[in-house]
Amino acid sequence: MHRGVSSRPAARSGAGRRRGAAAGRAAACGLLAALAAGASCTAFEPDPLTPAGTSVGNPNDGWLVDGVAVPDRAAGLRSYRGRDHRHGSRRSVEIVTETAAWLAERYEGAVLHVGDLSAAAGGKIPGHSSHRAGRDVDLLFFTRRADGSAATSARFHKFGADGLAVGVTPPVRLDLERNWALVEHLLEQYPQDVQWIFVSRGVKTALVSWALAVGAAPATVERALSVLHQPADSLPHDDHYHVRFYCAADDLSWGCADRPPIWPWVRRTFDRVGHAATDDAALRELALGEL
Ligand SMILES: [Zn+2]
Repeated sequence: MHRGVSSRPAARSGAGRRRGAAAGRAAACGLLAALAAGASCTAFEPDPLTPAGTSVGNPNDGWLVDGVAVPDRAAGLRSYRGRDHRHGSRRSVEIVTETAAWLAERYEGAVLHVGDLSAAAGGKIPGHSSHRAGRDVDLLFFTRRADGSAATSARFHKFGADGLAVGVTPPVRLDLERNWALVEHLLEQYPQDVQWIFVSRGVKTALVSWALAVGAAPATVERALSVLHQPADSLPHDDHYHVRFYCAADDLSWGCADRPPIWPWVRRTFDRVGHAATDDAALRELALGEL
């Protein structure tokens, strides 16, 4: 991968919009400060050279610079939220759209329903304490109806460890094959990017049981045991996935910040840079890209 230096010239393209967004934030900040005299106010002013689609800070108090919008519809993908909160970092949106297309290619008619990401400029959005830096995305589970047909509408059903939707008649169940395929794809194709897939303990149990039953790779199951997680400080996530991505390598130098844990299989950019700096050929490639 040759990321970082070569992407910086693209930064200028969104600078005008960005100045406008920053001014809007500064104005709102000033109003809040006036209403609450004495309150501190720290409007975010991105470096004007920051490339569009860069995640800055961490998911709970960060920002997004000219977020990339997930489309209404794409191959294997439907967005079920309005457009205001559908912006992510370049890398997050790339992973979500590729994963949806991959699933649709593998499973005819598969549709990944995509919910909230972040506002175009990041920051607090209603209903979420995170989702501020373009690295969080809500996805609905793949489900099946009683007759075995795939459910195609975007519905928030709560599921237990038995894979059945709670209190729904006629019954709806998790499509464990497709749900595991989603998790497996994320963990095998994007192991450097996926930090968490928040789901309830019940759904995690159902997914891991399925993975073991179909002979999934032990290394992938081991990653899943870490990454699939019921958060302690929010809803149990028994009706949707919340996927959190690490900072992309490019974004680290612009102030993107990860919170722990960094899983043992994840290599950070500074590891690669530290290694490359001892080798002139690798340093040249890092600085100039592939010539
Ligand atoms: Zn979420």
